[in-house]
Amino acid sequence: MKIIPISLPTPFYIGPVNVYLIAEDPVTLIDTGPKTKEANDALHEGLRQARIRISDIRRIVLTHAHEDHCGLARSVRDQAKDAEVLVHAWETGHRIGRLEYEEHRSLLVRAGVPSDEIETMRRMYEGVRQYADSFETDEYGELRDEEELEFETGTLRVLHTPGHTPGSCSFLREADRTVIAGDCVLKRITPNPVLSPDPVDPKKRFASLAEYLVSLARLRSFAPTLVHGGHGEPVHDFEELFNRYFRAIRERQADVIRLLPKTGATAWEIARQMFPGTDDVHRFLSVSEAVAHLDLAHAEGKIALEIGDGKEVYRTAS
Ligand SMILES: [Zn+2]
Ligand SMILES: [Zn+2]
Repeated sequence: MKIIPISLPTPFYIGPVNVYLIAEDPVTLIDTGPKTKEANDALHEGLRQARIRISDIRRIVLTHAHEDHCGLARSVRDQAKDAEVLVHAWETGHRIGRLEYEEHRSLLVRAGVPSDEIETMRRMYEGVRQYADSFETDEYGELRDEEELEFETGTLRVLHTPGHTPGSCSFLREADRTVIAGDCVLKRITPNPVLSPDPVDPKKRFASLAEYLVSLARLRSFAPTLVHGGHGEPVHDFEELFNRYFRAIRERQADVIRLLPKTGATAWEIARQMFPGTDDVHRFLSVSEAVAHLDLAHAEGKIALEIGDGKEVYRTAS
């Protein structure tokens, strides 16, 4: 069972995205790239080189519902004449390309983001949404943790690896311990645990970083020999990456705690100090990052959290 990576251009800062083709029955595409002509053309070229016609695709599997990964899913499904689309149920809280704006808005308010900034973030988000088509609930099937996706000559095991998003999934080929990990594992950057509503209780915030650490440890337990990420080159030394990620996360946590004034601060205020030069596009991600680290530090009992005036204020634990 061969895994064929295809790199597709994206209009996003992160650069090209990797999608993966399994060119045997049932022909399967893992992620699709964003909904742009350039990505669609590059996908067709990649398929052509693998001697696969788009109409051969029977199954579209999504690592998660970010536009750079799921944007072309509907288009590929239609071109493939009814391939099935599979995604984890926790991702469909986002309903593939339809992130629930109101739920996000209340998370941002609680994080102390000023209303004009929220408005800017909403406009950015509307801009990003054009790169993915949305799906109705009856248009996709659910990926389940530990389920085996069967192919002619092998299987891929679904591993639910939440963190980057609640419904992020990875796929393990046990025979040689190869993993396709989407944005859970990226060679050059630590993936951002994106601020998300909890899929079980959308009024709460998903404990993205704590979940992410568990997912990384779970991947490590398989001692992967090769990990294909959603962007950049594959990772051959997962152990090294695992240790580097953990160090980076601990260092950032220490920074966040150091930045906390005695009088307390919101996640927004910490984000502005952590990433002072951040332009509009990346302010949502910087808030995400700050919230993720503050939440983890709070869960670990290292800082205190109070709610006042609809905002959450973090303080150093006395
Ligand atoms: Zn992503
Ligand atoms: Zn991505």
